[in-house]
Amino acid sequence: MTDKVEKHGFQAEVRELLQLMIHSLYSHREIFLRELISNASDANDKLRFLALSTPGLFSGEADLKIWVSVDKELSTITLRDNGVGMSREEVITNLGTIAKSGTSEFFKRLSGDQQKDSQLIGQFGVGFYSAFIVSDEVEVFTRKAGEPPANGIRWASKADGDFTVESVDLEARGTRIVLHLKDDAKEFSDAWRVRSLVRRYSDHIAFPVLMPKEGEDSLDWEVVNQAQALWVRSRTDIKDEEYKEFYKHIAHDFAEPLAWSHNKVEGKREYTSLLYLPARAPFDLFQRDAARGLKLYVRRVFIMDDAEQFLPMYLRFLRGIVDSNDLPLNVSRELLQQDSEVEAMRTALTRRALDLLARLLKDEPEKYVSFWREFGAVLKEGMGEDVINRERIFPLLRFNSTYEDSDEPKVTLADYLSRMKPGQERIYYVIADSLAAARGSSYLEILRTKGIEVLLLTDRVDEWMMGHVREFEGKRFKDVARGDLELGALADEADKTTAEAILFENSDFLKRLKLSLGERVSEVRVSARLTDTPACLILSEGDMGAQMRRIMAASGQVVPESKPAMELNLEHALIKRLKTTEVAVDFDDLALLVHDQANLSESGTVTNPGEFVRRLNRLLGQLMQ
Ligand code: ADP
Ligand code: MG
Repeated sequence: MTDKVEKHGFQAEVRELLQLMIHSLYSHREIFLRELISNASDANDKLRFLALSTPGLFSGEADLKIWVSVDKELSTITLRDNGVGMSREEVITNLGTIAKSGTSEFFKRLSGDQQKDSQLIGQFGVGFYSAFIVSDEVEVFTRKAGEPPANGIRWASKADGDFTVESVDLEARGTRIVLHLKDDAKEFSDAWRVRSLVRRYSDHIAFPVLMPKEGEDSLDWEVVNQAQALWVRSRTDIKDEEYKEFYKHIAHDFAEPLAWSHNKVEGKREYTSLLYLPARAPFDLFQRDAARGLKLYVRRVFIMDDAEQFLPMYLRFLRGIVDSNDLPLNVSRELLQQDSEVEAMRTALTRRALDLLARLLKDEPEKYVSFWREFGAVLKEGMGEDVINRERIFPLLRFNSTYEDSDEPKVTLADYLSRMKPGQERIYYVIADSLAAARGSSYLEILRTKGIEVLLLTDRVDEWMMGHVREFEGKRFKDVARGDLELGALADEADKTTAEAILFENSDFLKRLKLSLGERVSEVRVSARLTDTPACLILSEGDMGAQMRRIMAASGQVVPESKPAMELNLEHALIKRLKTTEVAVDFDDLALLVHDQANLSESGTVTNPGEFVRRLNRLLGQLMQ
């Protein structure tokens, strides 16, 4: 039965992706095979899963397989599976649109630079559309499991913006894909070449992949892969290459993983896990709704993708699988959320993941540096999220500090402790928007003169993280922009004795200044932390810092008011001048200018930029007279 041929346009994003793929992916063109075999394996997995509750779906054909063959004369390569197949509607959506969350974000990131974009495509996962890297026409014949032969569908496209769909009779259940190879991709109709690629891309696939016997006419098929799930095999039998290939299969990543951890747990609770640490962050790492989690299997049967219940949010960058012997086959997402078994596995897997990182740090420090660059800011979330493992995460943290000139965060907390001055009781840190801003911060002045190291924190998550930690190995953390510096034994004795005298001497000046600034500040006091800057603003311990205020403001939330104290550097010429200014208007002008400056260096803005500039110019004008 054949009805009329329906024509459909691809979704705009698909059109763009196809263009990109055709024009910028000339290296690694063979990855289309990995993607299509991967889809065939997914389709078989899905049918096996559905047949758990509806065995009739197998219709007597329960041996799930994948077939690959080439035709040199016609210049085609054909892949077939007897998996779940697709209905007409499914074909139209699945092979005409992209359903991934964050797709539009992905397209915004494309730069037009082919080199960079092809890397991005790799992270995005090219999927089915990769068939067009090597084909000028693709045909898909598919029949959904449980449907009669008359409900078969033929889908076809030349990647020119449209595809066609028509009904056809199909005896075979599942999906057959025929690629009509481009002139420059004829190598993929070479049986020997394809056989070696198929072997490479399918060894770890749990279904037999068959190809026609060498040198013979089709009909005689032989299995070319191991046809055993990789994680079932013993660690010592698996080559690194196989681990890497499996990673690419489940993560749809072009790049190799940095490290992995493969474990079998036996006893009361039995499961196998294989966790991978990717080399690069996916484009949607900071999108809350992005897919994350492990592929879940129960007794070798694929159950679901993106099972998020097995790892905490702050380890969302890990990929991998978990195969449980104990969970019921009909386990659902809802069930996973409440299951105490799953909870226990999550605790153990979290531990494994942190061990994997610790091992990488110890054995392959250069790789750890690149891990930290990609995912450090995410791991930091764990300091707030995972109180139980905080002590395990501490040694994994990396910081920039005033001790190191490099932009690469290299300093560990242990390094910091080992360099503390005798009598130093605090771990000092400053939070800023950039490394340059942190290094140039006026809050560091006195610490720098005393040679005290300060950690420089510049990730968005830093203020939040530091709000969750109090101390490390008995030493309290101290934000240099808040409250008292708590120098303790590090403060000069001489300073302490003169401090009171100074305060007494200046009390009128301080009062006058507070009066002039009014509600802008909670207090005006003499600073012990400045050497070069006239003044700075100091938050109290409970106040929200500049970084959090900015993040809240950016997300449209109401930012709580905070009223910092202003500290003065009495040695600074500007402050000396202020002290001797008699005329009230001039005093107010100068006072506000000092305050605006301090505000600018604390938060990166002034409350009223126009006024600030006018005031500055008025004073500069006086200077030039
Ligand atoms: P992904 O595999 O990441 O979902 P793909 O682009 O590879 O993305 O495939 C898109 C969708 O097309 C799949 O999710 C699946 O629903 C469908 N599909 C692709 N190949 C097959 C197949 N061989 N059998 C059944 N469905 C398939
Ligand atoms: Mg796919």
